[in-house]
Amino acid sequence: MKFLNTIINNIFNTIFPVKCISCGTSGVDLCLTCISGSPPAERETAKWIFPLYDYRHPPIKKAMWLLKYKGNKRLASTFAEILYEKILEELSELAMMENFKKAILVPIPLSPKRYRERGYNQAELICKELIKINNLRHGVDIELINNVLIKTQETEHQARIRDRRVRLKNLTNSFGIKNVELIKNRNVILIDDITTTGATLNEARKILKQASAKKIIAFTVAH
Ligand SMILES: [Zn+2]
Repeated sequence: MKFLNTIINNIFNTIFPVKCISCGTSGVDLCLTCISGSPPAERETAKWIFPLYDYRHPPIKKAMWLLKYKGNKRLASTFAEILYEKILEELSELAMMENFKKAILVPIPLSPKRYRERGYNQAELICKELIKINNLRHGVDIELINNVLIKTQETEHQARIRDRRVRLKNLTNSFGIKNVELIKNRNVILIDDITTTGATLNEARKILKQASAKKIIAFTVAH
């Protein structure tokens, strides 16, 4: 099956060759040279948020768009490779200084409506790739906990959500926690593709804190 997939992929790539969106080099969506030449995120964020690149840089902006709206999973894996290095770097320090161990990866969720429309969550794609990389490298003790932090649907569906599924809600009702036990006393690494004002990450952090999460940090591809 894997062999067949490879053949199909190869045929597909011959008909629609993959090219770097920035320099045109064939074989990749965004080549390593262009990624490493991208300006790092420098605008100020909260100390617990670690963004990689400046969103205003056109290739990064375009890559984010392809990942978010065009379901480009190869980009999720490319960015996960780079995020992974950054996570390891921060974790080695945090593990020593603050006993930040056995962390759980939590993707910033989409609302159910948005998820149905898009068919996938780009932050979740990145998380899955991060776990793949970590397993391959026999890396650190992290696990993906999906569908625990959920985005509650606005207005008409709120009554139903308020029912039993969502145990905790914050003031603006934008996030909920489905199973508090999975969060309690755990170190959390939030993952999102982009942060702009940090408001989404802040809200997610607030509700995770209410659910008794230990320490919460966040990584994003762009800012
Ligand atoms: Zn390139």
